[in-house]
Amino acid sequence: MRVHIDRDRCMGAGMCALTAPGVFTQDDDGLSEVLPGRADGNGDPLVREAVRACPVQAISLDEA
Ligand code: SF4
Repeated sequence: MRVHIDRDRCMGAGMCALTAPGVFTQDDDGLSEVLPGRADGNGDPLVREAVRACPVQAISLDEA
């Protein structure tokens, strides 16, 4: 799995970092980014919750 954030779409709501803090954080501008080394989702089931929680559908998962 690869976690992808569309930062053009992200509006900094922060739901991803609140929902799955082991994978997502927010940069100085409040936009979401994946923590270093966690782009594989780190086996965290909360990643899928974060995808659902994002109000602008900015997070996608590449399951390949
Ligand atoms: S929940 Fe969505 S809009 Fe909010 S910070 Fe995360 S990716 Fe951005």
